[in-house]
Amino acid sequence: MNALSPFIRPNDYGFFGDYGGPIENNQLQVIMKDIENAFRTAMKDPEYLEEIERLRKTYVGRPSPVYHARRLSPKDGARIYLKREDLNHTGAHKINHCICEVLLAKRMGKKKVLAETGAGQHGVALATACALMDMECEIHMGVVDMKKEHPNVSRMKILGCTLIPVSEGAGTLKEAVDSAFGSYMKDPENNFFAIGSVVGPAPYPDMVATFQSVVGREAREQFLEATGGLPTEVAACVGGGSNAIGLFNGFLDDESVEIVGVEPAGEGLEGHRHAATLTLGKPGYLHGFRCYYLQDDAGNPSPVHSIASGLDYPGVGPQHCHLKDIGRARYEVATDTECLDAFLKLSRLEGIIPAFESAHAIAYALRRAPDLTPDKSILVNLSGRGDKDIDFAIDRLAL
Ligand SMILES: *Cc1c(COP(=O)(O)O)cnc(C)c1O
Repeated sequence: MNALSPFIRPNDYGFFGDYGGPIENNQLQVIMKDIENAFRTAMKDPEYLEEIERLRKTYVGRPSPVYHARRLSPKDGARIYLKREDLNHTGAHKINHCICEVLLAKRMGKKKVLAETGAGQHGVALATACALMDMECEIHMGVVDMKKEHPNVSRMKILGCTLIPVSEGAGTLKEAVDSAFGSYMKDPENNFFAIGSVVGPAPYPDMVATFQSVVGREAREQFLEATGGLPTEVAACVGGGSNAIGLFNGFLDDESVEIVGVEPAGEGLEGHRHAATLTLGKPGYLHGFRCYYLQDDAGNPSPVHSIASGLDYPGVGPQHCHLKDIGRARYEVATDTECLDAFLKLSRLEGIIPAFESAHAIAYALRRAPDLTPDKSILVNLSGRGDKDIDFAIDRLAL
């Protein structure tokens, strides 16, 4: 399960082209090296790999199917296919890396796994993996987010994790990151910080991409078997970029396949009510790694917005920054309105309620497919299911 495409293999310092890189803090450099060594060793250990394989099959429910969405596809356009990550246990792709991270923490003899969560999706997946593997789990969450996302708060409580409400500042994700990091730094020898996407300092982007690469590996094989060929394009939504890189990795070495990431254009690209990082951001350092990020003239991260809370991050994984620069992937956008439209279309034409995040990639496919002929195809990563978004959708769509 190790092989990542040469397009997204980091150098010895954790850089993908100009992006990514090691943490600056000296104390943490040693710890990050430990994690990297443990990760590289584990990836060569049949016992670790077999345990992951067993959990994927019997716990997560892999392989997730590739589905030909016939009713969603336009009559005279490209065929749309979906990689059904929404069918995973806990309802999204995040369980893929959480299981591997917690298993790694356990091998390293760590006592506690920590993380922040925004909408609670990463928190729930991590609390799930920790319950399964008998690992102490501490999740930091802003008080404003806790109110908005109370079903996920309940899930985390039921799963037995320690939930730390963060009331500083705006009481959202940024403050939760600071709080979780502060708690982690009290004992980094015994704590393991579980990052929820392909972001942060080395080795996290490479590690999380490796854990998510199962998505693209399965999808390529399933698509070949179903159609006898490869898709014309593969598309996925990009927040931090983990579900996208997981799918993309399976196809990066196939020259004929176009790779498309879809960012949230929110309420439009003028002003700050979006999170279109690769489209409008500039390179710089954010949260301990180099990436494109949305910033003001002084280099401070800009406020961001998306209807999909899993996409509203001002930065993005270093692999995507590199793929953009070398032209191996292109990055498009979809607005909140297009997302809602795609959300309802997929629900009513196929009986699949997608997560708002995933609906951005569906929106792109719906826009693109009519421009292509029916012998062409677009494979979309359906990163998660929409259970968490139904109340908001009812409100916004006035149903
Ligand atoms: C968290 C989340 C995302 C965004 O994260 P990436 O790292 O960009 O994949 C996308 N879809 C769903 C369903 C999520 O929960």
